[in-house]
Amino acid sequence: MDVPREVLRRIELVKDSLLPAYEWYPSDPESPRWWGGLGSAEEIAISAVLVQLSRWSSALASLEELRRRGLLDLDALADADPEEVAGLIRRSGMPGEKARRIVDLARAVRGRPGGLCGGDRELLLSIRGIGRETADGILLFGCNRLIWPASRLSVRVLSRVGMEVRGGYEAWRAAVEGSLPRDLYAYKLMHAGLVSVARANCALGNPRCDGCPLSDICAHSTARRRTS
Ligand code: SF4
Repeated sequence: MDVPREVLRRIELVKDSLLPAYEWYPSDPESPRWWGGLGSAEEIAISAVLVQLSRWSSALASLEELRRRGLLDLDALADADPEEVAGLIRRSGMPGEKARRIVDLARAVRGRPGGLCGGDRELLLSIRGIGRETADGILLFGCNRLIWPASRLSVRVLSRVGMEVRGGYEAWRAAVEGSLPRDLYAYKLMHAGLVSVARANCALGNPRCDGCPLSDICAHSTARRRTS
């Protein structure tokens, strides 16, 4: 079985009922709205840092505070005092560290042709506190690059369904990218759908397989039924 393709087919069937509950909004393939209904690549990048180890509602509150102060803009943030930024984003936790990451990001892309989306993946990864999952989320949803974020939540679900990959983040990313259709819609839906399934059903400790849209193809669910 081609696990990513079968998973994608099932997510497609439930996308309108499942994804918005977890702040994903399937839209036009190139639209930034997929990511919490936001309106630009810059908003996606800033919120991707704010939501690290935090809830989306808290990240959104910080985002709105930045907007109110005219700082929801990487050019403005490049000139901002990180301490001032930290004071505005307390709701999303780790304000000092996140302010530093956001200001570093703004300064790294300032003046580059194409701005945030003009650089390569390595530029984002060179910023302390921006790891592969965050960078790839920004590149896919903000910059419309065909890079699939192999998030911890997605890998958990795919592993339980039955996909086997030897290796870590990059191996999973390559394996899923090698299976999916090469288009933005498929990449975005696959990420948003798997993260939503992980949050709705596939918890780390005790997955709720009844009602999971992947239960009919899931090896873990089948094994549990046999032993219960
Ligand atoms: S059927 Fe169960 S184990 Fe499989 S993906 Fe869904 S919740 Fe996770």
